[in-house]
Amino acid sequence: MMDGGRSEELCVSEAMAAAPAGLQPSAFTRAVSPYRAAPSLERIDPHSAQEPLKLDWNESTIPPSPLVLERIHAFLLNTHHLNWYPDLRAAELGARLERYTGASAEQLLVTAGSDAALEVLCQTYLDPDDEVVVPSPTYTHFLVYAAARGARLRQVYGKDPFVRPDEAILSALGPRTKVVYLVSPTNPTGVVYSHEFIARVARAVPQALVIVDEAYHEFSGETALPLVHTYSNVVVTRTFSKSFGIAGLRIGYLVASPEVVSAVRRVFNAKSVNVLGQIAASAALDDLEYLYSYVSEVRAARPELVAFLRSRGLLARETPANFVMVRVPNPRAFVALCEEEGVYLRDRSMDSQLEGYVRVTVGTRRQTQDLCDRLGRVLDRLAAL
Ligand code: PMP
Repeated sequence: MMDGGRSEELCVSEAMAAAPAGLQPSAFTRAVSPYRAAPSLERIDPHSAQEPLKLDWNESTIPPSPLVLERIHAFLLNTHHLNWYPDLRAAELGARLERYTGASAEQLLVTAGSDAALEVLCQTYLDPDDEVVVPSPTYTHFLVYAAARGARLRQVYGKDPFVRPDEAILSALGPRTKVVYLVSPTNPTGVVYSHEFIARVARAVPQALVIVDEAYHEFSGETALPLVHTYSNVVVTRTFSKSFGIAGLRIGYLVASPEVVSAVRRVFNAKSVNVLGQIAASAALDDLEYLYSYVSEVRAARPELVAFLRSRGLLARETPANFVMVRVPNPRAFVALCEEEGVYLRDRSMDSQLEGYVRVTVGTRRQTQDLCDRLGRVLDRLAAL
């Protein structure tokens, strides 16, 4: 590996356990390591006097635009609206997304969260034993979608997880590569891929789909969208779950060449994009001022949180997304004590992605001030132990 990075290949068929008798899930399903989600929702007391700071899943920390709620209310006044299927083409939302992204209708597909976009891309393009190159640490849910197709996962690691492993990625590419999954900015490291690099990958493997997951695009301001117009094998996925504040309504989308979009439509379940999500996402796009003001709050709060953590002697890393990474001596104890203060964080050591690091979602400046006060108390308690 040119930059000293490493690449791990996990062959799904090798990892399969012997099948006991009786009804069994498919061989590929049995071989999948399930996505380990540790939602804090059930531990949050909605009646607590203290505002819970739910900062473990990078959701928006504030409700969506009032226009979203207004349109949903108005929609529900027609009693037939819930017994009919949603608009299968998501036309209203699609028209707004054309304006928001500059892409044409043939280049766009609305999905049930960006997870569904990632899943349907794997479904459309992956055959068993195809190779999928995944720079890691990464958003691990994607690995489930690829493994469920029987693909071979080649996870590529650089020497320093916070530095882009460009050379290691390029050396992992080959004639059997079918998908390359780049998260930009990367969850959990904040790594961003340049246009030059993505274009280089797209040219190196014209037989492969290069997925650029831009779940955090609005916070970083970076995008690979222009590449979609030049490279027919580049696809960008995005979400309304982070900056737009409607994670619970499950809306995402992909932008790709018309050939990719029509291939995906062959297997895509158009009924899966629920009607309230379509209404909400359309309304959110009609109130971009609200989005911009939240994004600028997060961008202002990010360095303030990092400065506070550093002032307490911790190694804190700012990212271009809506989270920061902080290294603490005992992540498990730290996260548990934070919960006693009503602060819910994600321990990234748990799935051995980033040993010793905890991920903290960043909200508004007011919430961040409150967060720093509570973290200060936790750190005092830890120091006194
Ligand atoms: N991609 C990345 C990089 C993410 O961090 C997440 C959410 N954690 C998703 C995709 C999925 O987002 P959603 O399905 O809510 O759009």
